[in-house]
Amino acid sequence: TRTPFIAGNWKMHKTIAEAEAFVAGLLPRVADADGVEVSLCVPFTALQAVVDSTRGSRVEVYAQNMHEAPEGAFTGEVSAAMLTELDVHGALLGHSERRQFFGENDRALQQKVPAALAAGLKPMLCVGETEEEREAGDTERKLRHQVQEGLEKVPLERLAEVTIAYEPIWAIGTGRVATPDQAQEAIAFVRALVAGFDKEASEQVRVLYGGSVKADNAAELLALPDVDGALVGGASLDPASFAAIVDAA
Ligand code: 13P
Repeated sequence: TRTPFIAGNWKMHKTIAEAEAFVAGLLPRVADADGVEVSLCVPFTALQAVVDSTRGSRVEVYAQNMHEAPEGAFTGEVSAAMLTELDVHGALLGHSERRQFFGENDRALQQKVPAALAAGLKPMLCVGETEEEREAGDTERKLRHQVQEGLEKVPLERLAEVTIAYEPIWAIGTGRVATPDQAQEAIAFVRALVAGFDKEASEQVRVLYGGSVKADNAAELLALPDVDGALVGGASLDPASFAAIVDAA
């Protein structure tokens, strides 16, 4: 009974003009996608334009980052209130590229996830292991740490509103998609970690797979029992390929 959820993460792609052209191409293609939740994670500069051009459609708009503090001396950062003012629906939090290149850590995420919820933004918490960690047998230890830290300060009654994206770092942008067994195993483990906080919430929380999802591998991944959707990078940049993944859900 969990609604399938397909999210596109544009990363640092698309000017306002490009974003508007994408939306014009996407909306007619997903108009009939009943029963699928669709969202786009958009660079800050195009948020307003994408909120405006998707208003009244099934597409929701997420920021790609958010600072945990309500305001303050944090040059270059954006607060939850700045996002809700634009009618943004949610925020991607802890993407591996933010962790890897911008020093985002589990301590900050422990604040960001509840701060987003408190402000009325839907949080999507990203977790995942490196190739080294997988080879060393450390995948579960890494996921346990990231999920437990990220959810620790979330009020239990709001836990089900969090979406978790499992993105093995070795599968991001590499074309090396996880096998169905790898995706199912890791995502079932993530769900079991949520059950450690609250059993009922663990049955409601959506856990997405991300990492080299394309139109031609999406159906197989989305059919897995614990996989509730996909977080799509490269294949979300083109309306036809993104819509094909929505169709597969
Ligand atoms: P790709 O789909 O390009 O591998 O990116 C995945 C990702 O990082 C989405 O957040």
